[in-house]
Amino acid sequence: MNKTWHQKNSMPAKATLAQRIKWHKEHQKHCSCRGVPKSLEKYFSEKKQP
Ligand SMILES: [Zn+2]
Repeated sequence: MNKTWHQKNSMPAKATLAQRIKWHKEHQKHCSCRGVPKSLEKYFSEKKQP
């Protein structure tokens, strides 16, 4: 787990959907402590990864 990243990028308590998507996209790049929640999966297309 990338503790440093998490300390610098805490999820806002009342994050909007857009904020949560953005957070998880950044999170994927820097850390893999947990995956994308099922409720957000539809916003992430695995086939579009470079
Ligand atoms: Zn993490």
